[in-house]
Amino acid sequence: MDESKWESFTVTFQDSVFFDLMEKFTRNRAGTGALVTFKDSSWFMSVVLAFQPHFRGQPEHVKVFWGYGLYPDNVGDFVKKRMCDCTGEEIMQELIGHLHFDAHKDEIMATANCIPCMMPYITSQFMPRLNSDRPKVVPEGSTNLAFISQFCEIPDDVVFTEEYSVRAARIAVYTLMGVNRPVEPINQYQYDVRTLLSGLVTSFR
Ligand SMILES: Cc1cc2nc3c(=O)[nH]c(=O)nc-3n(C[C@H](O)[C@H](O)[C@H](O)COP(=O)(O)OP(=O)(O)OC[C@H]3O[C@@H](n4cnc5c(N)ncnc54)[C@H](O)[C@@H]3O)c2cc1C
Repeated sequence: MDESKWESFTVTFQDSVFFDLMEKFTRNRAGTGALVTFKDSSWFMSVVLAFQPHFRGQPEHVKVFWGYGLYPDNVGDFVKKRMCDCTGEEIMQELIGHLHFDAHKDEIMATANCIPCMMPYITSQFMPRLNSDRPKVVPEGSTNLAFISQFCEIPDDVVFTEEYSVRAARIAVYTLMGVNRPVEPINQYQYDVRTLLSGLVTSFR
């Protein structure tokens, strides 16, 4: 678990104070930017402000976002506790510290509801392994058994993605049911000059 856990948290507000501050700071409207990662945070925190409303039926004045810390066993920079020992309120305090939003702390905290969630196996798909550790989607000789989701072996595909699970399911169904349809090919973006170039430009932005 020590090698595969993160702690995530979801936050709900009854007003747009935090979102307005984030928009000003990042110059992105919610849902138009990428993750905001605090690279110097000892918890290695990131937050993601998705397009609002995020949930069907979410009232217009309610705002929700998601965040996580990759090193939940480390002591925080503003809250001197390990992330895994913190309440939602303390996680918000740490976040406000990193964002330098202290002047608005009371306003932000007045309607914030932060719910932490420990995810002990979230990156277990990335653990070192041998090629023989995981079964193929349809093991050699199988006619009625297949493996789907993240722990079956699909050469060249990338785990921790929706695509991996969908591709595994397609391979399983098409193979076992004899469906004569090609499975979507895996895009080898790592060899695409345009992707490499834009990666290079982004690295030095
Ligand atoms: C925090 C987080 C962020 C992510 N972000 C992204 C992202 O940005 N992009 C991306 O592509 N992927 C992302 N992923 C990965 C992606 O969500 C998963 O890889 C994908 O959802 C896996 O789909 P699945 O159908 O294989 O498995 P799951 O969605 O896990 O479905 C498995 C289902 O089986 C059920 N189940 C388990 N045991 C039993 C049982 N014994 N009996 C009956 N049912 C059972 C579970 O309840 C669950 O509903 C993220 C994952 C997490 C956790």
